[in-house]
Amino acid sequence: MGKRAETIPPVPWILNAADRCDGCSHARAYGRATINPAKSDLNFCYHCWNRHVARLREVAVDLLDETDALTTVTKLDVSA
Ligand SMILES: [Zn+2]
Repeated sequence: MGKRAETIPPVPWILNAADRCDGCSHARAYGRATINPAKSDLNFCYHCWNRHVARLREVAVDLLDETDALTTVTKLDVSA
């Protein structure tokens, strides 16, 4: 019996590399604001998120902040 390495479950981030910023349109999105549920959401990269988040908190009906993904280290299970 080998000793198994402790694994940390991956954080279930909702935004992924396919989600791009609607502000600068090229960077990966780490935040999403729903301004009006009937309309599509707006995605923001870390830079644009920080630039607009104060205003978004006033007008958005829902905010998804995944900027922690930039500073979270995910330990991969390579034993499988
Ligand atoms: Zn941006």
